[in-house]
Amino acid sequence: MRWDEEVYGREYDLDIFMIVAVDDFNMGAMENKGLNIFNSSCVLASQDTATDAAFQRIEAIVAHEYFHNWSGNRVTCRDWFQLSLKEGFTVFRDSQFSADMGSPTVKRIEDVTLLRTAQFAEDAGPMAHPIRPASYMEITNFYTLTIYEKGAEVVRMLHNLLGSEMFRKGSDLYFERHDGQAVTTDDFVRAMEDASGRDLAQFRLWYEQAGTPIVTVEDDYDEANGVYRLTIKQAIPDTPGQTHKKPQHIPFAVGLLNSAGESLPLNLSADEQGGPVDRVLELSESEHCVEFHGLSERPVPSLLRDFSAPVRVRYPWTREQLLFLMSHDPDGFNRWDAGQRLAVDVIQSLLGAAKDASVEPRLIEAYRHLLNDAELDQALVAKMLLLPSEAYLVELSDQADVPAIHAAREQVLKCLAHALRDELLACYQRNLDRGDYQLSSEAIARRSLRNIALGWLLHIDDEQALTLALEQLETADNMTDRLGALRALVNSGFAAERDRALDDFYQRFSDDPQVVELWFSVQASSGQAGQLPQIQQLLQHPAFDWKNPNKVRSVVGLFAGQNLAAFHNPDGSGYQFLSEQVCRLDDSNPQIAARLVSPLTRWRKFAPLYSDQMKAALERIRDKSELSRDVYEVVHKSLAG
Ligand SMILES: [Zn+2]
Repeated sequence: MRWDEEVYGREYDLDIFMIVAVDDFNMGAMENKGLNIFNSSCVLASQDTATDAAFQRIEAIVAHEYFHNWSGNRVTCRDWFQLSLKEGFTVFRDSQFSADMGSPTVKRIEDVTLLRTAQFAEDAGPMAHPIRPASYMEITNFYTLTIYEKGAEVVRMLHNLLGSEMFRKGSDLYFERHDGQAVTTDDFVRAMEDASGRDLAQFRLWYEQAGTPIVTVEDDYDEANGVYRLTIKQAIPDTPGQTHKKPQHIPFAVGLLNSAGESLPLNLSADEQGGPVDRVLELSESEHCVEFHGLSERPVPSLLRDFSAPVRVRYPWTREQLLFLMSHDPDGFNRWDAGQRLAVDVIQSLLGAAKDASVEPRLIEAYRHLLNDAELDQALVAKMLLLPSEAYLVELSDQADVPAIHAAREQVLKCLAHALRDELLACYQRNLDRGDYQLSSEAIARRSLRNIALGWLLHIDDEQALTLALEQLETADNMTDRLGALRALVNSGFAAERDRALDDFYQRFSDDPQVVELWFSVQASSGQAGQLPQIQQLLQHPAFDWKNPNKVRSVVGLFAGQNLAAFHNPDGSGYQFLSEQVCRLDDSNPQIAARLVSPLTRWRKFAPLYSDQMKAALERIRDKSELSRDVYEVVHKSLAG
């Protein structure tokens, strides 16, 4: 509350903020004035039953619903097409809040990971829609990542373009002008425009055009004149119902580094000297040429710093440049991103390679350096150690072959774990908690690092790590460590220990529905323990309940959405399974059924062996009698065109 008073000047207007927690709820939370309704998993937490990630999520969701009192309730939406008016703005507000409470870089990495993995996929798929959609059949299908996450990115760009002071003037004007009214996204942009005096006509295209802009960057260095030139082009792919799009207004933050890793002044003309080391270029045409003067050597560019716009950047990075940025970029987000790009490049180069093909030794050395770097923000180190997910690798490929992606990623992970065994054990020991449990950023980063180390070591069935995991499971005083050890065991080849650990964990927590959901999800998302026959067994488990949305999500949703190698079994059994569960749920809970279809809707993205079978599964759903409007809309749009 204090944060919103200080940052936005908004005070609460009731005596008490009330939340009712319910176990059976399709959504996360809902901001009814006076009595907020929360899914119990989004509000109930104790150190014994909730992970650090759950604590952080709960803090963010409570903030989000609280902020809605102004951005959503006192100023609300004129119609459902304006959903992003309240959701985009409020997600932006809650992300600013979470950034202030913890590490801004880590929060940015988490938001962008979700955006690039899932929202970009939505933007490139059959359900692509602008953040202010022009039509819909069933509005519950439009509580999407585009409305929420891309909507928040669009507000963030306004913040980047206007600066925080002007942005605050704009939000003050918006709240004053429209308090008690039901308005549109255009009213929001107009308030920003009126307060700042800036022309945002072209910026409004972000609300109308769907699809993720592709920004292609080329560079050259003119040694004789000391001029470094960037040629930047933008293009927006066609989406259902939209072709030949106009260029958008894109804030593109850049920096340049010299070979010593120092930031260089960005002088835009030969006369300028001592320019700033960070600049936000404003792209508005389909092509721009920008020159930087007074440079005595060819610099390394740091592009789209802090992910200043929701776009895909194409630039021919060399591995040398990525390694350099990974250890020198002063922009924490780009430092992480360079590591991700390098890992993606290495994994992609191993697609279809022999099982014993060698892994880029410089990647191993870069990770070794990270594991030993006690100076760097340890929360950032934990993020940098995570390899790009299979879902992200699928998103980056055409004609995705998931088993091949899975195999290549596994090869890199196992190679890293073998090569860095000593560093991983040392990292685990160094990050053990000696005192009482704490929920501070430092303690969270420590738990995160040591559980990553443990997970990697168990991934190669390391006996010493097995002992550590069993000990951690026995002595943990919090759910993060307990679940970290359980997850590591579940993803290892130690089948007997895994089964025993799962049984013990269930016995201990069988009366807590939220922990039972975690127990389901650890198995459903595991390549080792989550093959289809085991998923079928989980559905027969006495604790599973088809009427409880959280249980359905934690088994069926996680299997299809996160256990990609098992779901995309070449025999098509995963698709068959999902289509059956969607049809089964369609009668009782069409909203959840429509969401579960989502992994099938991207069928065009996959190699023919997979896409043909995914399409057939969609057709089976389409042919069900009395299909709900929710599922009908998603299935028909996916099959059309
Ligand atoms: Zn909301």
